[in-house]
Amino acid sequence: MNKPALVVIDLQEDFLPSDGSLAVAGGRSIVEGIIDLLDVQKFPWAAVIATQDWHPHDHISFASQHSVEPYSQLEFTHPLGEKDETGSVKTLTQTVWPDHCVQNTFGSSIDAAFLTQFNQVDGKVPKAIVQKGYLKDREYYSCFKDTWKLHKTEMEDTLRKLEVTDVIFVGLAYDFCVMNSAVDCSQSGFTTYVIKSLCKSVFPENISQTDDTYRNGGVKILESIDDYSF
Ligand SMILES: [Zn+2]
Repeated sequence: MNKPALVVIDLQEDFLPSDGSLAVAGGRSIVEGIIDLLDVQKFPWAAVIATQDWHPHDHISFASQHSVEPYSQLEFTHPLGEKDETGSVKTLTQTVWPDHCVQNTFGSSIDAAFLTQFNQVDGKVPKAIVQKGYLKDREYYSCFKDTWKLHKTEMEDTLRKLEVTDVIFVGLAYDFCVMNSAVDCSQSGFTTYVIKSLCKSVFPENISQTDDTYRNGGVKILESIDDYSF
């Protein structure tokens, strides 16, 4: 039998228009549809999980820490100094962002309307908030692990403990944290879906490339929850 979990990625004020420091265009418009998914009479979730980007104020992914413009590409070195076969320290080129989701600021808070409904979900349905991005020296897009795949969050253990088989992703942003989370989820052996209409992209102009990354990562793209059989 399917044991599906709903995972809501980073529905946080800094990712939401109009005031979020890293607002994703249209981000606010998906909140209501995501709240509707919390009706556990209608949708028999085995678990409901929300994620929260949760950075120290001096996080390495902030452009301000490198004195460059937000959205620049920078080369980062392996946080533990691991070397490749030629003996050079491994590097990754990644985007740097405006300061966002700093721990205990308004920008890091989860949308209030969503959180109210989340807290009211029937206590028989397991719920969790999984944080990521709290280690200062590395970027996290996936809610499972950092971009170097060194540190695991509580996500996989939480899903395994609850014997979840299927994971359905929604949230922000479709082309970063939702995508990397979903691909890691599929690679961890869960049957993985994303509901495209309940996500928004930072770079919507790259949508077909983003869709390909999902498909190549083993993630099924659904237009709506009606396309999923509970
Ligand atoms: Zn972040």
